[in-house]
This record gives sequence, structure tokens and C-alpha cells, in this order.
Amino acid sequence: ERKAALAAAVGPGATSDGHKVPLLANVGGPADVAAAVEAGAEGVGLFRTEFLFLDDSKKAPSEDKQVEAYRKVLEAFPQGRVVVRVLDAGADKPLEFLTPADEPNPALGVRGLRTLLDHPEVLRTQLRALATAASGLPVYLEVMAPMVADRADAKAFAEACREAGLQAKFGAMVEIPSAALRARSILQEVEFLSLGTNDLAQYTFAADRQVGAVSRLQDPWQPALLDLVALAAESAKAEGKSCGVCGEAASDPLLACVLTGLGVTSLSMGAAAIPYVRATLAKYTLAQCERAAAAARATDSAEEARLAAQAVLSGE
Ligand code: PEP
Ligand code: MG
Repeated sequence: ERKAALAAAVGPGATSDGHKVPLLANVGGPADVAAAVEAGAEGVGLFRTEFLFLDDSKKAPSEDKQVEAYRKVLEAFPQGRVVVRVLDAGADKPLEFLTPADEPNPALGVRGLRTLLDHPEVLRTQLRALATAASGLPVYLEVMAPMVADRADAKAFAEACREAGLQAKFGAMVEIPSAALRARSILQEVEFLSLGTNDLAQYTFAADRQVGAVSRLQDPWQPALLDLVALAAESAKAEGKSCGVCGEAASDPLLACVLTGLGVTSLSMGAAAIPYVRATLAKYTLAQCERAAAAARATDSAEEARLAAQAVLSGE
């Protein structure tokens, strides 16, 4: 019965008073597209492109192979939005031919955009492949860089996109506290932000996302993380630009309401979570979400934040 009710609740994501929050899917390759379409995703909010690079440990996939894979995902969302993240190599996603082997702290080393700026030919090929894949399709393409630390990073990425002749919006992921703190300066170079809350939690709390012993600090309900989300969302609003979330945080229905209340403009998650988030968001007004967000931020722990938001939303 619950399943039937969820399946019936299709349509765009919105609060009960009609404030729209597009619900997008995180996909790891063409194989994930069917589930995203079935869940009623309004597009893709995070297309992780690493899968293409896993077959060959010695070199990058050919431009043709990339065009084919990107086109499959873009074609699945005619008129929809697809946000492609360029290669995020290093740390938890090491690639033999790109990732330095001798770093004492790979999560703090050459990874994400840093890797691509060190290997401009890899970035160029990927951006060209995206431009070719999108040409002639009615899709609304957005391309973003992982691990942007500052304005210089955002500028270098935007320049590489322009040089590749990409007709798309260029964006920056906010995964490092410095990017949240100086979001307005980064937005002088790019057109949108997307919060990667998995890495943002890791770097905010100095808690490795792969170490179970510190998982308490990886909890996205941590008020310090909510503060950074609020800062990025407010900065984007002040610049007239959008700020989505594409980390795991967006897949928790209650937290999705809080993120909406913090000013986040879209939510991207694994397809399986979309019906639950849609159904929960539809129960509350934007003002209720804002009150829940304020209550969560006024606490001192993840557990208290969760309870405070729950109390507001259940009308206690
Ligand atoms: C994140 O860090 O939250 C994110 C969405 O990227 P990934 O999990 O692929 O690092
Ligand atoms: Mg990340």
C-alpha cells in the first residue's frame, strides 16, 4: 500500500505550497538511467563520469567512447537537465595513470579538479566529448568541477570549458569549506553551485569518509555542516544563481526538507530515494521547512538537530 502511494506521487518536486525543488538523480553511468527515469527524476543532478576511466589503468578512454556514453545519458532526459561532473580522480577514487602514488594524505593531495589541471589534455578531451555528445540534443547541459577550492580553480575550469566550445552552464562543486566560505567570489566565475555533502563533511570535520570509526562526524545533520550549506545557498541567492545538493544528505527525506529550508534550490540523490523525498517534501510548506532548518541549526549535535527538525515538522 505504501509502495502504491509512493508510485502515485509523481510529478515535479515541490513543497505543499508550491515552492519548486527539482528532484534529480545521481547516476554512475548509462546503466543507472532507467531507474532514474522510472523514479520520475526531473533530470540528472550528478553524473559521475569515473566509471569510464576504470577499464584501463594506463590511459584515459578515447573521445569516441566518451561521446557514446555521455550521449546515452543525455538522450534519456529530453528537455530535462543533466549535470555532468568531470572526472573526479584521486583519494577514494584513485586512478593509476593519474593519481600520484606517493602522497601521505591523498584526500588532501592532487585529486578532483587539481588532477585535471595537472593533466589538461584529459580535461580537454572530456569537455570536447561532452560538447559533441550534446550537440543537436534538446537537453539542458550543465558541467561542473569537483573539489573547487577557490576562485582561481573556478576560473581555470570555466576557461577550459569555454576553450572546448562547450555550450553549457559551468558550475563548481562545494566540497571544501573554503568554497562555501567564499562562494560569492567563486560565483564570479561560474553560474551555479552544487554541494557535495559527502566530501564537505569529510573536510569540515577532518573525518575520513572511508573510516567507520569517525562516522559520527560524517553525519550530514551536524549543525556545522548545515551552517556551511546555508552560507553557500545564501551566497548563491545573493548572486542570483542556483545552489543544489548532490551528496547523500539529499536522500534523507527529513533532511531534504531542512536543506530546502536552508535555501537549496535542487536535490539530487540515488533514484531509489526520489519517491520518498518527493512525498515528504509535499507535506510541508516552505515556511515550515525554514522553521525546521532554523531549529536544526540552533542545536549543538546531529542528533539534536534531527529531533528539532522532526519536532517542528510534526507540529509539536
Ligand atoms: C560528495 O562528495 O558529496 C559527492 C557528491 O561526490 P562523491 O561522493 O562522488 O565524492
Ligand atoms: Mg565528492
